[in-house]
Amino acid sequence: MLDQIKIVLCHTSHPGNIGAAARAMKTMGLYQLVLVNPKDFPCEEALVRSSGALDILDSALVVETVEEAIKDCKLVIGTSSRNRALPWPLIEPREMAQLIDTKPESHPVAILFGRESVGLLNEELQLCHYHVNIPANPDYMSLNLASAVQIISYELRLKHLTQNPITEAPLELKDSELVATSEQVEGLYQHLEQTMVKTEFFDPENPKLLSARIRRLFAKSQLNQGEVNILRGFLSSIEKYIKRKTK
Ligand code: SAH
Repeated sequence: MLDQIKIVLCHTSHPGNIGAAARAMKTMGLYQLVLVNPKDFPCEEALVRSSGALDILDSALVVETVEEAIKDCKLVIGTSSRNRALPWPLIEPREMAQLIDTKPESHPVAILFGRESVGLLNEELQLCHYHVNIPANPDYMSLNLASAVQIISYELRLKHLTQNPITEAPLELKDSELVATSEQVEGLYQHLEQTMVKTEFFDPENPKLLSARIRRLFAKSQLNQGEVNILRGFLSSIEKYIKRKTK
């Protein structure tokens, strides 16, 4: 699905935004960048802000008009930070990702982003099937261009991941990282009680709820084998210390 999406930046003024948009795209696994009549491109600042997403900038297609950018696309979506005079089908980024994912017959897809100054013009918005709005603070709706590209790309990535979950090989755990068995934890409780008796912290004739409270404390942390060993090592050191002192 991600291969079928073109990010189209229309009449971008600041080359830095082009670079930052390329970076945003690459982090989310999008590769097709189309630039409609950019003010300044190629440009050093775009390279710098792309921070290594040079492949996206190198393969970016530069065209004169929006019509040319979208000519082979079957679904065209325009991003906009505000409502325009003529209401258009308006969706949120998540809905947009869902729509793109469920309509393979509408691929390839173009997602248009507007000028930093005035966004997409009405004529450009009217080339779109849907408008998408990032539901930002109503008192301050306009994101930086590359930030908007990042958010839209992220939603596409999340959708992609639900279809292609990353299957990682299960981690090889060291013994010490394995969750302790009941027997091991029971051994710790016995050891703890034995040591507390030796230090006279615990009186087995008058146990009250101490044992239960200690069990509840450790139950919360689901000790692993290494942790049981550390605690038992510490208890042994207390026992040895007492033995030395009482000789
Ligand atoms: N001042 C312009 C906004 C330009 S921001 C205006 O009033 O329209 C540059 C581009 O970033 C916009 O054209 C749009 O493509 C995208 N963008 C910024 N904020 C957005 C938002 N809240 N929702 C969707 N796209 C947004």
